Formats: sequence, C-alpha cells, structure tokens
Amino acid sequence: MRTFKGGKHVPDNKDLTQGLAIEQMPIILDYYVSLAQHIGKPAEAVVSAGDNVAEGQLIAKASGFISANIFSPVCGVVVGIEKRKNAQGATIDCIHIKSNGEQKVETLQPLSNPTREQIVARIAEAGIVGMGGAGFPTAVKVQPKDFVDTLIINAAECEPYLNCDNRLMIERAKEFIEGTKLLAKACNVERIFIGLEENKMEAYNTLVALDGVSGEKDAQPGDIVVMLLKKKYPQGAEKTIIYACTKRKVPCGALPASVGCIVNNVGTAYAVYDAVVNGKPLYTRVMTVSGRGINNPKNIQVRTGTPLTAIVDFCGGLKEDTAKLVSGGPMMGFSLADLDVCTTKTDSGFLALTSAEASTALPTECINCGRCASVCPMNLMPMYIDFYATCGDTENAVKYGACNCFECGTCAYVCPAKRPIVQSVRLTKMRLREKK
Ligand code: SF4
Ligand code: SF4
Repeated sequence: MRTFKGGKHVPDNKDLTQGLAIEQMPIILDYYVSLAQHIGKPAEAVVSAGDNVAEGQLIAKASGFISANIFSPVCGVVVGIEKRKNAQGATIDCIHIKSNGEQKVETLQPLSNPTREQIVARIAEAGIVGMGGAGFPTAVKVQPKDFVDTLIINAAECEPYLNCDNRLMIERAKEFIEGTKLLAKACNVERIFIGLEENKMEAYNTLVALDGVSGEKDAQPGDIVVMLLKKKYPQGAEKTIIYACTKRKVPCGALPASVGCIVNNVGTAYAVYDAVVNGKPLYTRVMTVSGRGINNPKNIQVRTGTPLTAIVDFCGGLKEDTAKLVSGGPMMGFSLADLDVCTTKTDSGFLALTSAEASTALPTECINCGRCASVCPMNLMPMYIDFYATCGDTENAVKYGACNCFECGTCAYVCPAKRPIVQSVRLTKMRLREKK
C-alpha cells in the first residue's frame, strides 16, 4: 500500500454518510454569494440592486490573473451587495439574491472535442477553482511554467467525516473520468494517477470497471491508473499524495510542478466536465453535512451562497448536545461561532460535533514529549514553532519551519497538552505578511 512518512491514523467517522446518495438541496429564498470564493483578488460585481438575474448568469468578473468569475446560483432579483462574515471570520462583500421561483438557466456553449486552449479558456470562463479547500484558480494551475508529465487526481479525502468526493466517484464515475481526461489535456500530460485511500473500495471498484481505467496491477500503457493509498492522515495533502503516487519529493517552498506534477481534486475534475460538456459554470457543489450533532447527516448538492441555517434545517436541525460547529473537515476546517455563514465553491463539508466527538480542552504547558515532531509529515519541530510564536519571536518560529507547514493539524491532534500549534503557525505567517 502506497503511503508517506509520518502522519497518524485517525478515526475516519465516514460511516455516518458513506452509503448515502447525494441529495439535491431545494431552492430557498435568500442567497448571499461571496465575491471572495478563491485565493487572490475578490471578483468585481457586474450586477447591482434591482437587477433580474438568471441561474448561471455571470454576476461578478475575475479581477486579475489570480481571481475567478462568479455566477448566480438561482433565478431572482439582486437585493444589493452586503457585508457578511465568512467561515474564517473575515468580513467580505456578498451579492444578496432573492430567488423568484423562475426556471431560467443560462449556460455556456457546450464544447465537443475541444482543443487544449479551448479547455483552459472554458475552465477560466466557468470560474473553476480548486474545490478541495484551497480555491486556487484552476486555469492558472494547469499552465505551470515548469515542465509537467503527471496529473494526480487527489481522491484521498483523508479528512474524517467527509464523503463528497467518494460519493461523486461512485455516483458520477463516467463524468468524473471524462473531466479528468479534459484536465489532463489542459495540463498537456498523458500520465494520469488517481490516488484513493483504502477505505473507499466501492469507489475504487466502480472506477476500475470503466474502460481505460485500471488498478496498478492490471494497468496497460495509456490507462488512467487508480492507486490505493494507505488510510492515514494527511494522505490527501499535495506533498504527501505526490510522494505516495510517484516517490517524488516537492522541495520546501516549491510547487508540485517543480517535480513535474499537477494535483487536482475530484470535485474540480467533475466541475471541468460540467463546464466543457454541459456548459455549466461553477455555482453548485457536493458537500457532506455530518457529525453526531446533526439529526440527519447527508451528502448534498448545494448552491453557492446558501446560508448554513438553511442547510441545517434541510438536515433535520441540530441536537441539543452539539458542542462545536466546523466548516470543512475536523482536522483542517474552521470552528464557527454560529451558523451565520454561507457556502462557497470550496466548502466540502459542515460538521456539528457533540462533546464526545470534539475536544474542548484548554491548552496546558508543553511537556516536551516529542509526539508532534514524530507525526509531522514535513519533518518539522512543531513544539518550537509553537513556543517561539507564543513568545512573539517570529524569526525563530520561521527558522523552525513555520512557512513550510501546510497546517494539516496532525501535530495538534496528537499533542497531550492540547497546544494550539496550527494557530501558532497561522499567527507566524500573518505576522510575516504584516511585516512585508
Ligand atoms: S507542523 Fe504543520 S505540517 Fe507538521 S504536523 Fe503540524 S500542522 Fe502538519
Ligand atoms: S506534542 Fe505537545 S506536549 Fe508534546 S512536544 Fe509537542 S507541543 Fe509539546
């Protein structure tokens, strides 16, 4: 079984939604569509209060090289541009759209047998960004300066509880593989690996049953190869999955393209299929709503800008013993103060955790046990990063690798003193940005 050094086996808790088919979330009345659903500059609104919009209509234009177009999730009327909180607690501009129940849908022209240039242009036009959480514009990612020879589809979905990629691969396997081939053409590579954790055998068997897709043992030249990866967190981090699939090591501070690889997520490949073959821009996505604090955990297809309150209602409401709300997975997601947040293109999950599932213990002093260092997939010394960040010594926190940390949270998970190591890393990076 392919894997990487370090990491930790964490209970995956996927059983809550693993066998549940994707449900469509019905249209609601109010949507708040964020202009900052991607890394880079927020998009610029091209609609204003009082405008009528159709589902799929462009409502905000990318405002630079690293930015992305944004589309209306429903037919309705623009109420205005309002300031709202996002999952990270920042205040951002959102376009408030009141749906009017009409069915008018605007699509782009579907493309048949497109060239590489046409696919890249369509990915940009449809506002596609990395849907695993990073939100990096995909059109930029598929055109690196370095020579690349391998596309890796990150299907590890190693975050506990989440099943959205797993369900997409099971229920829409042909479309996902079609999207993967289009992505490979956009990247100009012929070698395609799909890295999938061993706890997704139904998805594995569904994929390898398709023409031109094989497991490692049976692969013929030209096949898309599905690689089984050991179930270990963070198997789905870019650097760890590249190592597991190709044995190539991405140097500190470098991008995957520096070792000839481009990594994209399952949802992104599916969005590329939708944009090229159906002409549908990116304004819906599949997410997992789970945790023992939610009455009816589900995998749902949701429109961007949907308030979490509506999602919670659709999933039967919260149980009384809910202790923590999380946007994303429990390892890399963000704790929410309340449900006053709306979905974006990058939201793979929402969790309501009970006190039995979520740690609410306060941090104590580091006891120098070294556990954090033993699990760090980047071979860092997380205890020193935490120590120096807490002292306000940014220089030494950087010296011990804060900038090479990809914030997987494995160190904090194993820490018996419950040190907030990831927050220390983020604080250090923030202080560095301020300095610059
Ligand atoms: S230091 Fe960073 S990369 Fe290493 S385990 Fe902690 S969060 Fe992950
Ligand atoms: S795991 Fe926690 S207590 Fe142990 S060395 Fe690391 S920071 Fe200190």
